[in-house]
Amino acid sequence: MKVIEHINKAKSTLFSIEILPPLKGKSIQSIFDGIDPLMEFKPSFVDVTYHREEYLYKKREGGYLEKVSIRKRPGTVGICAAIINKYHVDTVPHIICGGFSREETENALIDLQFLGIDNVLALRGDSIKSEPEFVPEPNGHHYAIDLVKQITQMNHGRYMENDLADVAPTNFCIGVAGYPEKHFEAPNMISDMKHLKNKIDAGAEYIVTQMFFDNEQYFSYLKKCRDMGITVPIIPGLKIMTSKKQATALSKIFKIDIPQPLLEQIEKCKTDEQAKEVGVEWCIQQSKELIKANVPCLHYYTMGTSEVTRRVASEVF
Ligand code: FAD
Repeated sequence: MKVIEHINKAKSTLFSIEILPPLKGKSIQSIFDGIDPLMEFKPSFVDVTYHREEYLYKKREGGYLEKVSIRKRPGTVGICAAIINKYHVDTVPHIICGGFSREETENALIDLQFLGIDNVLALRGDSIKSEPEFVPEPNGHHYAIDLVKQITQMNHGRYMENDLADVAPTNFCIGVAGYPEKHFEAPNMISDMKHLKNKIDAGAEYIVTQMFFDNEQYFSYLKKCRDMGITVPIIPGLKIMTSKKQATALSKIFKIDIPQPLLEQIEKCKTDEQAKEVGVEWCIQQSKELIKANVPCLHYYTMGTSEVTRRVASEVF
């Protein structure tokens, strides 16, 4: 079932989670072990992130450095199919522009359709770690909107080879990312939101936000989106802080603000265990306030920490 259908038929705020594929070589059991404790809260859908290749330099005989491309966390599509099969819960594979030509994207979408996956989160993806800026593949997409357009075309039965006869249209519900504190590359908020609106106009049906720790960021973003004519559901994304160093690491990685009261509480903690308690309590309060404001769904970035997500969910759902 589509994410938008879940939202439209819901009578109260839904619960959903995002998980990462395990590191290459690890078993899928780690995914099931993370999901099992959360099943009692009946997640409406599970997002599975996509991780593109990275380049490493390996030392070879004679001291030469060889540039090798590796994907540390493959398996997005397989995990989605396995979750549907095991739990009968809808999944949302993330698909990105980076590393894909248009044809490879088309083929990936055909696989998803054949597997019975109804949803995709369409993203640009970040640049490769060793590259200063995002570089599209030859004949690939530069921005998420181009990916949204391609999926929408396929939903209308238009594939890349336009002489195909009797084609079956796909039927994906498309989600996109939004940034309450602005995407770090955008010159200003209005410019970023105009690009967001374009993604909706191109066929995206809902937005999932980047994590934020101050609900005012979400409420203000929601208002700006509505003022700009963006009417689709905007799902808040929440992360539970679980260690002292995350206060600076999350801010650096995701280009977000950590509110001063939270930072002060974390700084007072002597151990990660204490910081985790602060993080759980902070997220419970955030979640309760968002539910009170009737948000469509609370989407938790579990990042391998399902135990704390379970604690938060048991307080708010
Ligand atoms: P876009 O919407 O393409 O925007 C990127 C930047 O370009 C923005 O600054 C925007 O303002 C600007 N822009 C957009 N269109 C245009 C245009 N036509 N002309 C000029 N400028 C434009 N990354 C992964 O690699 N894998 C994942 O699984 C993943 N999951 C994510 C899930 C969520 C909910 C979020 C919020 C992010 C996720 N990311 C993931 C990170 C994401 O890929 C990065 O934040 C990336 O830098 C931007 O992706 P986007 O889809 O928002 O890009």
